[in-house]
Amino acid sequence: MEKFDAIVVGAGPAGATAAYLLAQAGMQVVVIERGATPGSKNVSGALLFSQIYNELFPNFWESAPVERAIVGHSIAFLGQETSVTLDYRDLDPTHTPHNAYSVLRACFDPWMAQQAEDAGAMLLPGYTVERLLVENGRVTGIHAGGDDLLADVVVVAEGTRSQLLKQAGLRDDFYAGDVSIGVKEVIALPEEIITNRFQCLTADEGVAYTCVGHTGGVEGGGFLYTNKETLSVGVVVKIDALYKSQRQPHEILDEFKSHPFINRLVHGGKVVEYSAQAIHRGGVHLIPQLYGDGYVVVGSAARLLLNNVMTLRGMDVAVASAAAAAKAILAAREKGDYSRASLAAYEQFFKQTDVYQDMVTFKETYALLENKRLFNVYPDLISGVMDDMFSVKARPGKKAYRALRDNMHDELTLWQMLKDMAQIGRGLVR
Ligand SMILES: Cc1cc2nc3c(=O)[nH]c(=O)nc-3n(C[C@H](O)[C@H](O)[C@H](O)COP(=O)(O)OP(=O)(O)OC[C@H]3O[C@@H](n4cnc5c(N)ncnc54)[C@H](O)[C@@H]3O)c2cc1C
Repeated sequence: MEKFDAIVVGAGPAGATAAYLLAQAGMQVVVIERGATPGSKNVSGALLFSQIYNELFPNFWESAPVERAIVGHSIAFLGQETSVTLDYRDLDPTHTPHNAYSVLRACFDPWMAQQAEDAGAMLLPGYTVERLLVENGRVTGIHAGGDDLLADVVVVAEGTRSQLLKQAGLRDDFYAGDVSIGVKEVIALPEEIITNRFQCLTADEGVAYTCVGHTGGVEGGGFLYTNKETLSVGVVVKIDALYKSQRQPHEILDEFKSHPFINRLVHGGKVVEYSAQAIHRGGVHLIPQLYGDGYVVVGSAARLLLNNVMTLRGMDVAVASAAAAAKAILAAREKGDYSRASLAAYEQFFKQTDVYQDMVTFKETYALLENKRLFNVYPDLISGVMDDMFSVKARPGKKAYRALRDNMHDELTLWQMLKDMAQIGRGLVR
């Protein structure tokens, strides 16, 4: 039976990073990916936050297939027929790396996998790992394509729907309330129209919108990112809330796209891709056991995600966790000990990363994502107040407080609003 130093399950950002770092350090690594090519099975926004990528692959944006450098990020509150946006724009687009780049995963993941292959890893696309091989509670390899493959350590990087550890009795299933569903369309538009419509200086610049409201009353949010010749438009909504609403994910996306604010941005485009995928809610309090005898679990297979309402970060979190895991594996190799106790260093290394520190910083933000009023009441309220403040109508003008009281729904009391503001303060301000 063939034996490797390490087997990596999945060639997403987490798996490719682990494979790259382990192979670079001289380990014999095989990566098994169920897609015909890496990225072909992935769904993501996708904004790639560059910091950690630049540490791993300096100046990666020069050779990697990135779409546009994100020089503007806006948050849009969508009322019924109105919108209020808060725009951030980097007006010195010459400095690099940019904070984020838009990517299409079907193009970007093969590039990442190629880095791992160039470092010496062997990539086996088109094979699904069906189960882990376990002996006396220790993971010893995997079963795929009718064969058993053995390894000193298995890196489980199979993404959100990770079932291998549960199937092997090494982990519990996730709770449905902690999972959302993301649905996304890629909409083609000529490059020049995108550049002009989003007020970019060149076809290399792009912008990102995070949207709150108009997701059919279901807790969640929407996004719109500019690629070179396409737009990525999607919604991420809580699965239990979606179930209660008795609506289908694509209906929520259609409703989101029909909002005049979004409709004007996607107008004239042609849908060239539709995809959907589960996504963990994330949060430090939901991180499961990250290691065991003979294995580590990284990326979204380890339910790692950072959602602070303004940005959704999964890929850089996945890369950071995989880099920490690789460091622990290399230390384990030095000792010749891949036991649970030895691989526990992974958790320590991960906790030292900036990404983990950010997860701690935003730990209170997750409560916000549970607050229905954030999605159902406040976008209309904010829009209504702005309408009253800006519009000249055949009635006396209003100062802000009067406009606020007049736009408050019956179910929203001032006391409730103050409590919500305190929650927003805890989540995002201090
Ligand atoms: C709608 C949506 C929008 C998002 N937007 C963003 C964004 O803008 N920015 C961001 O940073 N993150 C975003 N995310 C999150 C991000 O996509 C994930 O956090 C990230 O992809 C996790 O990387 P990963 O390598 O852990 O898992 P994945 O990227 O899911 O990779 C797992 C890989 O394993 C393979 N695989 C699965 N099972 C097996 C098996 N049994 N055998 C072999 N191979 C297997 C899969 O085919 C896949 O290639 C978004 C997610 C969704 C759903």
